[in-house]
Amino acid sequence: ERSIAIEDADRPATTRDGRTIDVLVNVGVIQDAVDARGADGSGLVRTEVLFGDRRTAPTVDEQVDAFRAIAQALGGKPITIRTWDIGGDKPLPFLPQDREANPFLGERGLRVFRRRPELLRDQLEAVRRTAAETPVHVMFPMVTTADEVAWALQELGPRDGLEVGIMVEVPAAALRVGSLATELDFVSIGTNDLTQYTTAADRTNAAVAPLADGLDPAVLQLIDHVVRNAGVRVAVCGDLASDPQAAVLLAALGVTELSAVGPQVPLVKAQLRQADLGRVDTAAVLAARDAAQVRGLL
Ligand code: PEP
Ligand code: MG
Repeated sequence: ERSIAIEDADRPATTRDGRTIDVLVNVGVIQDAVDARGADGSGLVRTEVLFGDRRTAPTVDEQVDAFRAIAQALGGKPITIRTWDIGGDKPLPFLPQDREANPFLGERGLRVFRRRPELLRDQLEAVRRTAAETPVHVMFPMVTTADEVAWALQELGPRDGLEVGIMVEVPAAALRVGSLATELDFVSIGTNDLTQYTTAADRTNAAVAPLADGLDPAVLQLIDHVVRNAGVRVAVCGDLASDPQAAVLLAALGVTELSAVGPQVPLVKAQLRQADLGRVDTAAVLAARDAAQVRGLL
């Protein structure tokens, strides 16, 4: 089944009822883009992973070179560059952080750069320069407030040709997505963090892993709310998008772009081609008692 999916990988993921879902690949290292089969671009370039082995911050030129290599490996399809997402489980050697009692609730993602904007400014320059050569989307992680969106857009400056979005991975951002997205082209739901914050279950703690289930109906209700209220294109780039059955549900909820880990891209596309989204009982899923019942329904 896997080999059939891989042979078919380059065909679009059009469902039986005629909806085409873009399936993209998550990229941490350039090789992820080289190895990808059938991806319609990258829906998430984790820049903190791309440069995670550096002792000093990469220059603008080095960043442009890496972004260009990813875009070329994906045949010039759009790449979605996420600005530095550090803190919590992701330290960056060239940007030391103070110890925090609750790192996942502390200075993470965009929050870090309001005090130290220089590194973000360099990265945004690299993004703009890459966008002059190849289609680029840029998105900001760990956004909570409209004020943060306004600040990020101001730091970004002229947007010509760039599509601009935020990650929705904080419940507050999911609930007020309509007011956050007014100046944006898209939002991308980070189900890993959205799940951890919705269920109050640390994504790195195995003892609470059963609670941190992306198919928890509470998480799905937030995703449904985002799709209904964003007013812009909604993507999912968290791990839920890599699960073929969950991918069908996300598409049925109205998500039009999924970004998955490389080996899952052909399988997610194959599953979507077999699906009739109109026949997915989303109301029953959203009303389910728990993730186990959701799995049963799927
Ligand atoms: C997420 O939170 O779902 C996400 C895609 O970002 P990361 O896993 O890098 O925190
Ligand atoms: Mg995240």
